[in-house]
Amino acid sequence: MTSGALVRLAAGAAGQVLDLLLPRICVACETPTSTADRGMVCGRCWSRIALLAKPQCQRCGHPLAVGNCRFCDALPPYVRAARSLCWVPEATASGILSALKYHGWSAVGADIGERLARLQFPVDACRERAALVPVPLNAARERERGYNQSLLIAQAVAARWQIPVVHDLLTRQVATETQTRLTPGERSANVKDAFALQPDAHRKVRGQHLVLVDDVLTTGATLNECASVLFEAGARTMSYLTFGRARSGTSA
Ligand SMILES: [Zn+2]
Ligand SMILES: [Zn+2]
Repeated sequence: MTSGALVRLAAGAAGQVLDLLLPRICVACETPTSTADRGMVCGRCWSRIALLAKPQCQRCGHPLAVGNCRFCDALPPYVRAARSLCWVPEATASGILSALKYHGWSAVGADIGERLARLQFPVDACRERAALVPVPLNAARERERGYNQSLLIAQAVAARWQIPVVHDLLTRQVATETQTRLTPGERSANVKDAFALQPDAHRKVRGQHLVLVDDVLTTGATLNECASVLFEAGARTMSYLTFGRARSGTSA
C-alpha cells in the first residue's frame, strides 16, 4: 500500500469515527442525517422539494399547460432556454435557501449546483453555451454574507458542464431593496439600471451564449435586466438556470 493510500484510509476511518461522535444535522430541517446522506442537506429534504413537473416547455422549462405558454412571454427574445429545479416558496426549498443565504452554509451551493447540472437543456443550448455567469450581489451584501451564493452554485455546475464561470462581467451598482414584498412592476423598476458592465466585458461576451445563474427566478426581472445589459454588450444568446421558481407572476 502506498503512503497516499494509507493517509486516505486513515482519513476515512477518522471521518467515520467523527460521524459517530458528532451526528451530523441537516442544515435545512435540523434533524440528524443518515449515513447515506452526502452533503449538508438530508435525503429527506431533497426528496421533499417540489420539482417542476414534466413534460416542460422546451424554452422556459415551465410545466406544460393547455394552450400557449404564458411564462415564455416573460423572457426577452434572445433568451434561448430557462430551467429551474423546484418551486418556491415552499417550506423545504426555503429551508435549503435560507441555510445557503442567511445561515452561512456556503457548501449548500455545491449541493444545489450538482442537481442543477443535471437539468436537461435543448441540444443546441448544450452545444453552444460558452460560460456561466452568476448574478452578482452588490458589494455590501456580498461582504456581509461572505460570498455570492449564485457564484458557488455556478462553480459546481461548471465543474460538471466543463465550461468556465465568468464573474467579472457585471457589477450590481445600487443596493436594490429586497424584492420579496414587491409587485412585478415594482420589481422591474427596482432592478432597472442596477447592473453595469465591468471594463473589458464587451470583449469577453461578444457572440457568446451565456448561462445566467441565480438562486431563484420570481418574475424574471433580475435575470432579464442582467441579460439585457449583456445583450447590449454583444452577447448573442442567454439561458437561465435557477434553483427555485415562483408560481406567481406570469406562470401558467
Ligand atoms: Zn433535512
Ligand atoms: Zn414556455
